[in-house]
Amino acid sequence: MQQGYGRLKGKVAVVTGGSRGIGFAIARGFAREGADVVIVSRNEEQVAAAGEEIRRLGGQVLALRVDVANPEDVERMAKSTEDRFGRLDILVNNAGIQIRGPSEEMAFESWKAVIDVHLTGAFLCAQAAGRMMLRQKSGSIINIASLSSYVGMPERVPYSSAKTGIVGLTRVLATEWARRGIRVNAIAPGYILSEMTKKAMAQGMIDEKGIVARTPMGRFGTPEDLVGPAIFLASDEAAFVTGQVLPVDGGFLAFGYIKPGEGDY
Ligand code: NDP
Repeated sequence: MQQGYGRLKGKVAVVTGGSRGIGFAIARGFAREGADVVIVSRNEEQVAAAGEEIRRLGGQVLALRVDVANPEDVERMAKSTEDRFGRLDILVNNAGIQIRGPSEEMAFESWKAVIDVHLTGAFLCAQAAGRMMLRQKSGSIINIASLSSYVGMPERVPYSSAKTGIVGLTRVLATEWARRGIRVNAIAPGYILSEMTKKAMAQGMIDEKGIVARTPMGRFGTPEDLVGPAIFLASDEAAFVTGQVLPVDGGFLAFGYIKPGEGDY
């Protein structure tokens, strides 16, 4: 593993959805910077394999099967972290799923499944982590938001609602806990090539060319593109940064121009 600069040395981080994609890249990046990491996801084998990969690179890792939408699982996650490492300095609320479809046909179960993972899951994890961090009087929570926290994307009503809710969660917790040593921020990734995106592409749900054309940098992001921003927000370098949402999107949200008839520029 490429060596880091020890910016997270001595810190303990929990990354939800750390078994693959953006969460795995962030967990690996944190380990590279000297953190001990706890990664959690629902698939026990996958999370164990991801944990093994980070461990082989030299990090202290705990890999747990946890459904973030289940309060008992989340309590177990907090307790296991405390038992193993004795503290918690960083939480990344990254676990997520996507269910798309016309809003008028969206099944209640689909709405609930997406809200439960993204919004309720992020709240439960922030609450459990927050209790530990409040005792320590320090901590950094990073919520993974989305472009759809800012703009309407048709046929993603539960996802967009949850990702907009994440911004509210970020601001409330940031302001509530600011004087007690806890910072709470969010990162809003643009289109990132992860399993979630590749699956949507394979199902013809993502117009690859259109997105590349719509993104000023002219490419999809990679999970690694999120690592530097996450390390910054997690580290003491961001000591006076709280309640913010940082887009990491290749310029997508800053861009409003479409060449007539082409969608390119
Ligand atoms: P992936 O599908 O590649 O990874 C999702 C991760 O979340 C997996 O580890 C998955 O493991 C885990 N997960 C899903 N549901 C749960 C649950 N209930 N409890 C615990 N873990 C869970 O997705 P990405 O890496 O692309 O996405 C990560 C985050 O980034 C998500 O919040 C997503 O919304 C957000 N995002 C992604 C973008 C993109 O373009 N890829 C853009 C903007 C935001 P398992 O299935 O085993 O539980």
